[in-house]
Amino acid sequence: MTAGSDYQRLRAHLGFLRMTAAAEALPGLLDEAAKAKLSNQAFLERLLAVEVDSVDERRRAALGRFASLPSPFTLADFDYSAQPSVDPKLIAELGTLRFMEDATNVLLIGPPGVGKTMLAVGLGHAAVAAGMRTYYTTAADLAARCHRAALEGRWATTMRFYAGPRLLIIDEVGYLPLPAEAAAALFQVVSQRYLKGSIALTTNLGIASWGKVFNDDPMVAGAMLDRLLHRSVVLNIDGDSYRMRSHRARAETTRKALR
Ligand code: ADP
Ligand code: MG
Repeated sequence: MTAGSDYQRLRAHLGFLRMTAAAEALPGLLDEAAKAKLSNQAFLERLLAVEVDSVDERRRAALGRFASLPSPFTLADFDYSAQPSVDPKLIAELGTLRFMEDATNVLLIGPPGVGKTMLAVGLGHAAVAAGMRTYYTTAADLAARCHRAALEGRWATTMRFYAGPRLLIIDEVGYLPLPAEAAAALFQVVSQRYLKGSIALTTNLGIASWGKVFNDDPMVAGAMLDRLLHRSVVLNIDGDSYRMRSHRARAETTRKALR
């Protein structure tokens, strides 16, 4: 058996196993190994490490695309001085993602512009970076998708879809009143994730007014809140809108310039 045919067969094995990164790196690594007189073990480790890195990167990129996070902001981008009602220690603790181990939910409650979506999305990026399947949706999109699924006979598949991710972000609950059917869909998504997978949910409604989102159906609202809150971290964010803040600052500068 010649070295040449060994090499050819090794290439073929790597091709068969779809280890493209290792196959590409093979000639270079063989040269290096010969020059540095690497042991068989050390050579094999380097070759496999190349493949592991490449698969890992591909998986992470796929997780990132799947997550559909609407902005690139991470928890590190959050400006705590602008929002004193948000405790940096609590966010740091959430950022460790330990809350996901026992399917704890995170509820972010507050008026528009205070950073609820930013924090939820920041948690999403942290989860993706940790290799966890994450999915972002707004309540309105979830409702629309479930509505289509019901019409097209894909209800069960769609429910499984929302049960799948380790972290499900449901943004903007309560901005629009949900018709009974949509409320039922949201209720089912929350129920089937109960104690199995975390939900990060943002809402502009205080918990007391949740009946309003659900078509004035206090039964559904109550049952859903029960499940959401059983294991949960609730962040009540009050304070000024960040958007309005920069808007006000700009207006102030303009006013001063005019004076
Ligand atoms: P909400 O979801 O509560 O309506 P967002 O998270 O969408 O608010 O925040 C509105 C805008 O202000 C976004 O562009 C967000 O990145 C920014 N923002 C809000 N709060 C902060 C903050 N504390 N630090 C940095 N940017 C912030
Ligand atoms: Mg928002």
